[in-house]
Amino acid sequence: MEQAEQRFFRLLEKGTSAVMAVREAVSRLEEAGFEELSFDRQWGLTENGKYYVKHHDTTLFAFTIGKSKELRDAVRIGAAHTDFPCLRIKPNPDLTVEGYRQLNVEVYGGAILNTWLDRPLGISGRAAVKSQDVMHPKMRYISVDRPLLVIPNLAIHMNREVNKGVELNKQTDMLPILGLLGEGEKEEKVLMDFLSKELSVEKEDILDFELWAYCLEQPQCVGMQEEFIMSPRLDNLTSVHALLEGLINGRREKGLNVAAFFDHEEIGSQTKQGAGSLLLLNLLEKICSSLGKTDMQTMESLYNAFFLSVDVAHGLHPNQAKKMDITNKPVLGGGICIKEAGSQSYATDCEGVAAVEQICRKESIPYQKFVNRSDMAGGGTLGAIASSILPVRTVDIGVPILAMHSAVETMGRADIKSLADLITAYFQV
Ligand SMILES: [Zn+2]
Repeated sequence: MEQAEQRFFRLLEKGTSAVMAVREAVSRLEEAGFEELSFDRQWGLTENGKYYVKHHDTTLFAFTIGKSKELRDAVRIGAAHTDFPCLRIKPNPDLTVEGYRQLNVEVYGGAILNTWLDRPLGISGRAAVKSQDVMHPKMRYISVDRPLLVIPNLAIHMNREVNKGVELNKQTDMLPILGLLGEGEKEEKVLMDFLSKELSVEKEDILDFELWAYCLEQPQCVGMQEEFIMSPRLDNLTSVHALLEGLINGRREKGLNVAAFFDHEEIGSQTKQGAGSLLLLNLLEKICSSLGKTDMQTMESLYNAFFLSVDVAHGLHPNQAKKMDITNKPVLGGGICIKEAGSQSYATDCEGVAAVEQICRKESIPYQKFVNRSDMAGGGTLGAIASSILPVRTVDIGVPILAMHSAVETMGRADIKSLADLITAYFQV
């Protein structure tokens, strides 16, 4: 396995929640010499500088400045999301049913619920702990890669109709089991005990938490020629990985390269750390002003910017080939997808697409076009939302996958390199 693929697998393994995906991305950026900034401090940016800034632990921006600070027609932005469908643990989650210990959870995003059954699940996220300064509690991070939870299926003998399809209730059917009530034991807050032990803090000092149950399956190569990768979280850590590779390796003579990693895409992006917030615009304005640009120069530079929204696409499923558009049928391993939609659920415009195609042709990167069947609504992504705030040329791209939003998704192994190569080239032109 080559080194870039090893880095990709590491991100898939370590990025067990949006918080952890950001932490793994930061460690890669720091290894590559990026310097941390904070939104509430002054920035002294220099030519050839490499920086990153986090927001609420789950959204991250990284950027590099070229040899020259000239920004006219030289601002390139790429964006992906750090979150994925999963189960979020609710406050006061402990409950017991007939001797079983369970957790109360809610479904985060559009998960295919039945794929979460009969799999070992881990716990990942962050907790806020008591501090001296009441307005600034201490934040602690956790990713437990031991199998802690399971949501078992119901036996076929108890539902003979199971293979005709089962509707799962999000409140009652998705509660994971985390243990058994011991002899004479009564119901207690075992999750808080567990957290206190894992984080080495007093139980009383844990004020709140954001914890997610995540799928513990490991990424693996699959197929006679190992031409596929199966893994949880391909949506959208494929894009996070490719943007990191591109930003770290792609160096331009002049201008600004920005990689944005937003949280909350799976729940609509209209949040304070989602692509529907003013964060990206504020970031770009702060960068320009720190480089000594006037408001007018900033606006002129930004109107010439280019935005790549990077998220997975649907590949053709051989058992369901009719679900695809009738003339555009991207397949796994066939290269990156350029996604278009008349509804603008993909924010693609013809001029932008042509620019991406020219990069692909110049660099011999395979690409395909994705559109929805006309009788299907399909999905959307952050491109349309972010570009309504930053109205620049925009293209939605990503690797085609199968079983999007399943606990474990499948992709073509060759496509991850195609995506990373394209983004690297984009950050160099
Ligand atoms: Zn996605």
